[in-house]
Formats: sequence, C-alpha cells, structure tokens
Amino acid sequence: MREWEKNIRKVTPYTPGEQPKQQNVIKLNTNENPYPPSPKVAEALRRMTTETMRKYPDPTARELRDAIAAEYRVRPEQVFVGVGSDDVLAMAFLTFFNSGKPILFPDITYSFYDVWAGLFQIPYERPALNERFEIVKEDYFRENGGIVFPNPNAPTGLQMPLSDIEEILRHNRDVIVIVDEAYIDFGGASALGLLEKYENLLVVQTFSKSRCMAGMRVGFAFGCEDLIRCLNDVKYSYNSYTMNEAAIRLGAAAVSDHAYFSETCRKIRDTREDAKRKLAQLGFSFTDSQANFLFVTHESCPARELFGALRAAGIYVRYFDKPRIDNYLRITVGTDEEMEALYRFLRQYLKK
Ligand code: PMP
Repeated sequence: MREWEKNIRKVTPYTPGEQPKQQNVIKLNTNENPYPPSPKVAEALRRMTTETMRKYPDPTARELRDAIAAEYRVRPEQVFVGVGSDDVLAMAFLTFFNSGKPILFPDITYSFYDVWAGLFQIPYERPALNERFEIVKEDYFRENGGIVFPNPNAPTGLQMPLSDIEEILRHNRDVIVIVDEAYIDFGGASALGLLEKYENLLVVQTFSKSRCMAGMRVGFAFGCEDLIRCLNDVKYSYNSYTMNEAAIRLGAAAVSDHAYFSETCRKIRDTREDAKRKLAQLGFSFTDSQANFLFVTHESCPARELFGALRAAGIYVRYFDKPRIDNYLRITVGTDEEMEALYRFLRQYLKK
C-alpha cells in the first residue's frame, strides 16, 4: 500500500437499483411512482425561466418549507428540507448519532443505513426481524446511540403499529429516534402526531414516491424546533445551497395539490391490493405490504432465476443477494397496464 492510501476514507458505497438505458423497459425496480407529478408542477415549470438559474437559490428554501408546514399543519421551524430523503437522513446521521454507542436498525431494512454508519464511522447493531419479517420492538429497549427504521419497512413493506413506535420512543427518551416514512402515504399511519409528545423524534418523508418526483430530489423531515435547528447548523456547515431553485418551487407546487396527491396514492393502493390477489394465484407468497412495492417469493421458482428471466423480458424488478431475503423479489407497483404485462409474462413463464 502506498503511504497516501493509508489516509483515505474507505467506504463500501450504496448500490442503487439499475436505471436502464433502453426505452420500453417496464421499470418496477426502484419504487418510483408510475404516474407523472401533479399538473400544478408542470404549470410551475412553465413559469420558470433561465433567470431562475442565474442567482443562488434561497438557502433556507423558505417557499418549500412554508408549503410543507402549511400542508401538514406544523410550524415552518419544525421542517427541514434536503436533496431527497437520502440527503435528509445523511444529515440526520451526521448530526444526531455522535455518542460513540451503537445505533440500532433492523437487519433487513433500507440498505443505505449501514453505508452512512460506515461513512460517518458510527458503530451500529442490527436486531433481526422475526420470522414473519416484523420489527421486534423489545429489541430496541436497550442502551444505544440512536435508532432509525423505516415505517413501512423496506423491502418488506410491513408497517409497525403507531402504539409500538410510541413504546420505542418511551424507552428511548435520551437518544434521537428517526422514523423514515418514505412509503407512509401508501397505507401506514404517520408518527407525525407523536411530535408534540416526543422532542427526540425525527420523522423523515420524501417527494420521490407518493409525490412522483424522484428525479427532482426533494426530501423533508419534521422534528421539534431544536432538532431542526441542529440539522440546519450541520447542513449550513457543509453546503449552504443544497436545494436548487427548481426543486424548491416545483416541490412547493406539488405539496399544494392535495387532491392529485390523494388520488395518485389511492390508485397505487388499489393496484397493489389487486396485485396481491393475482400474484397469490400465480403461486407467490408475500408480506402484507403497505408500501408501493411487493416483497414476494415463489413456491417453486427461485427468485434469482425469475429476476434474470424478467430482466431478459424487459421487466426490471429488484433482487437482493443477501442472507434471509435471497429468495425474494421486490416489485414496485406500476400502472395497471404495466402490472398486466408482468402477470402475462409470469403466467407464461410459470405455466400457470
Ligand atoms: N428511505 C427508504 C426506506 C427508501 O427506500 C428510500 C428510497 N431509496 C429512501 C429513503 C430515499 O429516497 P429519496 O432520497 O429519493 O427521498
């Protein structure tokens, strides 16, 4: 090893799902929303000119923070915004997990958590999900340096009852508990209502899934004013201008269209429940996902084989070659037409 190499931060980066180059792929591998953003976003886009780009954006992203605060009936000082919830979560890890004690998150969960822990040199432990892939709340009733988990969890899609989340909070008053609600709008109950009671709670959400704007990169978090101030101090010590002006304006436009948002989420939920019936007929079993994806295993066809066959047919889903889940596929809920194409292929491939 060369001398200078010894001082390099060594990390194993997160591997995102594949973004195919070719057209005509049915893309069910990264939990994007198959529907376009609200027409209000298109309108706001038409109103933008290159003048928007000449100046620096508002570092406080006030327009977006105010819009989120108004929609969710909290004070703007309780809202933090970032470049997707990945940015928000990374800032939260950096800001809140500094005790030197291990932070806790499930063994099967969003695979970015251990990457950030590695990057920021935060020790961590991963309590195992039970055999039904549920988070066991009692595993989080012990000394730790902080807690993070998604609700619904990914890639299982299972939601944790709010009463269990509150029990975890009750047992962990001295550390920050982050609830990552990337998929909450597709069926789970948000922990937002617990904010007034627990000043150590941070609730993180995103525009990437339920608001159909993964490409715009907008994420946000709710917390008490002190937590949000600490997050902003760290953010402004790193890069003042993370959110670009387009993301701020178009994000604010998306939040204001409540009707479109509810309708899009309803369509995804309906397609997901229909998919559960159809996939069961095809010999799949799965968790009772409340997210915009299904986590499925087949009675006879190995997941890895099916993943390859689907890919060859131009249908992309996600396969994780990891312990306990290496015979499962995560399938994003697409439009009804995309899902029909998936069932057609499966019927033929599995001879059902
Ligand atoms: N949390 C979870 C659980 C996720 O699955 C994702 C999507 N990859 C994210 C956060 C980050 O999404 P984004 O940065 O697009 O908001």
